[in-house]
Amino acid sequence: MVSAQLATIRDVAIVGGGFFGSMIACHLAARGLSVLLVEREQRLLDRASHRNQARVHQGYHYPRSLLTGLRSRENYRRFLGEFGECVHTGFEKYYAIGREFSKVNGAQFEHFCRRIGAPVAEAPSRVSGLFDRGLIESVFRVEEAAFDARKLADLVWRRLKSAGVEVWTGAEATGVQAGPAGLSLEVTHEGITGRVDANHVYNCTYGDLNGLLRASGLPLIPLRHELAEIALVQPPPELAHLGVTVMCGPFFSLMPFPSTPWHSFSHVRYTPHAGWHESEVASLSPRAVRAMGEPASRFESMRLDALRYLGLAAQLVHQKSLFEVKTILPANDSDDGRPILLRRDCGLSGLHCVLGAKIDNIHDILDEIDCPSGSLIQPDKVRAA
Ligand SMILES: Cc1cc2nc3c(=O)[nH]c(=O)nc-3n(C[C@H](O)[C@H](O)[C@H](O)COP(=O)(O)OP(=O)(O)OC[C@H]3O[C@@H](n4cnc5c(N)ncnc54)[C@H](O)[C@@H]3O)c2cc1C
Repeated sequence: MVSAQLATIRDVAIVGGGFFGSMIACHLAARGLSVLLVEREQRLLDRASHRNQARVHQGYHYPRSLLTGLRSRENYRRFLGEFGECVHTGFEKYYAIGREFSKVNGAQFEHFCRRIGAPVAEAPSRVSGLFDRGLIESVFRVEEAAFDARKLADLVWRRLKSAGVEVWTGAEATGVQAGPAGLSLEVTHEGITGRVDANHVYNCTYGDLNGLLRASGLPLIPLRHELAEIALVQPPPELAHLGVTVMCGPFFSLMPFPSTPWHSFSHVRYTPHAGWHESEVASLSPRAVRAMGEPASRFESMRLDALRYLGLAAQLVHQKSLFEVKTILPANDSDDGRPILLRRDCGLSGLHCVLGAKIDNIHDILDEIDCPSGSLIQPDKVRAA
């Protein structure tokens, strides 16, 4: 029971048992600190860390942000090195470039891949022939992996246990304030509310970052949110071992979703059901949006558009959809860049806010925790560090 343990003082309390909060907990516990992890859901890695496209980025997705591309490429190697057992690489991955509406052409995409050192080659005709070449200019074979969020959750759980991290699931942090040990975190579990004293609190709640700050009367971080739908589909046999991303504009992506037998299917135009900014003056929270319930699926709109480019998309069979709020920093709306946020002493000394942006950014965050270089980590700053 949470209530029986609330009097204990920890070095660190971490709010949010997604991939980032859990990994930070392991990292700090391995340095000898006593760490408590508080997660609202009943299981770890059940929100954004599971409800996403499962792509381990290698840079291909960011032809308009060279620095993000370079960082992704470097992080890809590190991620596969450390989490290889949770990663699926047994499929062929292709990027196709649209003739119209694409923000890059085939030559630019290929040049970009070579600049960041990512493998790229012309697709074999058995694959390029699957596309409508009137609408698709070029098709490239690349190397990209997909992670299995359930395997990742199992691995993280084992690491938390062996690092001695105390984990409370089904427990919600409802506020933080200055306290005798530095900070005092209010936690509610099964209707009982109590306080946990800690020297440091890491707010790793992704889309809900401002929820904890607002409840604590602290200044908010400007964020951009999107209510996103990832459709899970049964592909026809010809696509079962392929992943396809059509770039770079209002197109779609279809690739294995390894924690299921299905593929994830998303579309730049139909996946976002709503988008909004959250700040001091615009206070709509992701939680309030989630409470409105899941909207009707747009799978059919995605399918109808995708089959124009890839005829086999007509045979996709919808299984279910995952809805989640996707959160990024507003500065990267325009160039697709995905820097990470580690903001220290967020309104209170010892309260630190983390926004990971992409799963493979974990190493950048852990490096930054060990060796602070600034509060907003732009990829160029990380490279220079
Ligand atoms: C639709 C979508 C597609 C994406 N596609 C990709 C992709 O293909 N590749 C990629 O690398 N990244 C992708 N991302 C981004 C990636 O999912 C996130 O960067 C990553 O999951 C963030 O991990 P996290 O631990 O910060 O967040 P989460 O996994 O969401 O963890 C935060 C946790 O905090 C908990 N929490 C919130 N408030 C409280 C509270 N008050 N008390 C206790 N617990 C609380 C939540 O329950 C949650 O479990 C995608 C994201 C979305 C939404």
